[in-house]
Amino acid sequence: MENNKRTELSDLGEFGLINRLKEKVVLRHPETQTGIGDDAAVIENRNELTLVSKDILAEGVHFDLTYTPLRHLGYKAVAVNVSDIAAMNGIPKQIVVGIALSNRFSLEAIEELYEGINQACEDYNVDLAGGDTTSSRSGLIISVTVLGEAKKEEVTYRSGAQVNDLICVTGDLGGAYIGLQLLEREKQVFKQDPEMQPQLSDKEYVVRRQLKPEARMDVTYDLKELKIKPSSMIDISDGLASELLHICKASKVGARIYEDKLPVDSMTFDTAREFNLDPTTVALNGGEDYELLFTVNQSAFDKIKNHPDITIIGHITEYSDGVQLITGGGNIFPIKAQGWVHF
Ligand code: ADP
Ligand code: MG
Repeated sequence: MENNKRTELSDLGEFGLINRLKEKVVLRHPETQTGIGDDAAVIENRNELTLVSKDILAEGVHFDLTYTPLRHLGYKAVAVNVSDIAAMNGIPKQIVVGIALSNRFSLEAIEELYEGINQACEDYNVDLAGGDTTSSRSGLIISVTVLGEAKKEEVTYRSGAQVNDLICVTGDLGGAYIGLQLLEREKQVFKQDPEMQPQLSDKEYVVRRQLKPEARMDVTYDLKELKIKPSSMIDISDGLASELLHICKASKVGARIYEDKLPVDSMTFDTAREFNLDPTTVALNGGEDYELLFTVNQSAFDKIKNHPDITIIGHITEYSDGVQLITGGGNIFPIKAQGWVHF
């Protein structure tokens, strides 16, 4: 997990640590007038709306350091926040990072975490504008707040879906959940026999889906270029079924999606089978894919039908029709929430 060199955080102190972290921080936006170093970051607001969101990742609840590299964890902590701004059709601009850590972590470990954070800042073009550092007696906690911008007419809410709109998802579903099953299985094998090497080399895609998810900013930029504004949008953190129910509830509509249309990667499909899991259930209820679920007016069909990362999975119906899955065999199943319960 860590390199050979180990610098104790107690030798460095809180301010020493913050200074080390600050050295590698690059600010990319002129609006970020003051970053790390004063009592608060100073951000210039233009005439657009400000979007704010926060996601907390807690050790033992959201991640397990026995198989999560700190670099990936830092990246993921930023990506899941950027994903919330993408879901509002906004542009992420700044993040503020809070970490609570114990003396179990060295400077080198925290720098590795920040390497991932800085990499994500570069990939998503956001500025790390500040944060807070404190100690924790239990596990590592990372709390990220993201600030984003959007024009008033561009913001997409959960509540805008209209009857007959097309229901679309980006990428593929269920991979992150299957990756987690694999990592947990290898952890159990390792616990019983530490000589055993993890068998994950041929499962790279799904493991990456779990450990290093990406926010779909690329698709939000594509939609802007195609001049498409989704009527509603949400990111898939708890699973397709749960997110679709959120959109339907907020928009007061029903939905019909088709099992045959659900985008499932072949490795996700095959590995689900190995675990005796139904790939459709995994696609519907597996969390943490951080893909986007959105609705668009039917007039956008020609513009999106050939997009390689967008799949049309169904359409919006009247509220009274409920939220339904049409199976491959033509049966109708009501969709119920099975979002993740952390408690
Ligand atoms: P204060 O005592 O006013 O809360 P701090 O000493 O906590 O100030 O923070 C000093 C500066 O360092 C601030 O600009 C703060 O935003 C930044 N900072 C503190 N911890 C972190 C961190 N973990 N990551 C990034 N910036 C941080
Ligand atoms: Mg502070």
